[in-house]
Amino acid sequence: MSTATRYKHVRSEVDQVCKELGRDPEEVLLLAVSKTVDVDQVQLAIDAGAKAFGENRPDELVRKQKAFPDMEWHFIGNIQSRRIPDIVSAATLIHSVCKEAHLAKIDAAAGAIGKCQRVLLEVNVSGEESKSGFEPSEVKGIIERARSLEHVKIEGLMSMAPRAEDELINTTFLGLASLEKELNGAFPQESDTARLSALSMGMTEDWPVALRYGSTIVRIGRAIFSDSFENA
Ligand SMILES: *Cc1c(COP(=O)(O)O)cnc(C)c1O
Repeated sequence: MSTATRYKHVRSEVDQVCKELGRDPEEVLLLAVSKTVDVDQVQLAIDAGAKAFGENRPDELVRKQKAFPDMEWHFIGNIQSRRIPDIVSAATLIHSVCKEAHLAKIDAAAGAIGKCQRVLLEVNVSGEESKSGFEPSEVKGIIERARSLEHVKIEGLMSMAPRAEDELINTTFLGLASLEKELNGAFPQESDTARLSALSMGMTEDWPVALRYGSTIVRIGRAIFSDSFENA
């Protein structure tokens, strides 16, 4: 199976699961995580219909965004302060903000190039030591304090489920969706633009579960780009 075939297969599976759940497939972004492949594979995915890609290294994000400037390039990796200007120069959406100090730096970098940077806050719902992300209880205060940043728009939340039994995965996705709902209720809406609407959750192993809990962005790498997913 080729990258193009795998991409189309995943896209139709996502559409199918949406239909079963009574969800509109148009409201779910399939993010093709291209971090392990080069531009030739990205081109094949584009030919098959992909429009949005995820990268976890600033250099690769910048390089591939330059090669395909009409696509969306999302940053999903660990953020180092000194790389923030590079990330902001290329990222459509940053999924992985997990230090409050980085919001002010993103604001400054975005302001310098006349951009408003869309971001998600990464939340460590499962509480695993090894995972990055804000604690759920911190998020409300962070959003309140980030209100004054003119060049940052917090659009939603992101999380990674533990590699564990189904029940823990369900709990993580349900926990993130509930947190977003709670936050939207906690901020009586001044305007619809302040509402959190994005939920980035679900990867190759667990995206159908994530869709069930309301995911709006599934980040899928191996099922699209890995040869070992021939029979996916
Ligand atoms: C690599 C990666 C993915 C994609 O993982 P797959 O299991 O290959 O689908 C999704 N999200 C993040 C943050 C990643 O680093």
